[in-house]
Amino acid sequence: MNYLQVAGFLDNSLANGEGLRSVVFVSGCSHKCSGCHNEIMQDFAYGDKVLIDEVLQRIRSNIPVIKGVTFSGGEPFEQAGTLSQLARDIKRFELNIWCYTGFTFEEIINSMSDNKQWQELLYQIDVLVDGRFEESKRNNKLKYKGSSNQRIIDVKKSLEKREVILFIP
Ligand code: SF4
Repeated sequence: MNYLQVAGFLDNSLANGEGLRSVVFVSGCSHKCSGCHNEIMQDFAYGDKVLIDEVLQRIRSNIPVIKGVTFSGGEPFEQAGTLSQLARDIKRFELNIWCYTGFTFEEIINSMSDNKQWQELLYQIDVLVDGRFEESKRNNKLKYKGSSNQRIIDVKKSLEKREVILFIP
């Protein structure tokens, strides 16, 4: 049985990616960004240990209202194995997946040969919002991201072209 350490869940949100989305906040993050908006979720033990089937059922209960699911946190790539499994199940419902991460797209790509779980997760994601939160670059007017260094990346196109292609709504 596979469990996810869950810090929080939103059934439908408009602030965490394009369209109405369910949001899974996972617990645990080692980036320790100064000014982190979810500091409590940096703790790997915060929240509840939840079966991925339960998370899936909760997501399913929001269909057909939602357009997709967003993974946030915390650091989703710290639980890449379980999240890639959940992502595969979500895809069966034809929902798209956004994921927030403190790692950069290049860091993930460069580690993938040694970290198959990261590879499996990245390949399920449609849009990746990457990079640590940088307080000096904070801008409240930015849509779907907190600081200007972060990028909203079209993962499928970027993997195909082998370079970062930004997501255009
Ligand atoms: S990556 Fe996100 S959750 Fe992690 S410390 Fe930075 S702002 Fe907080």
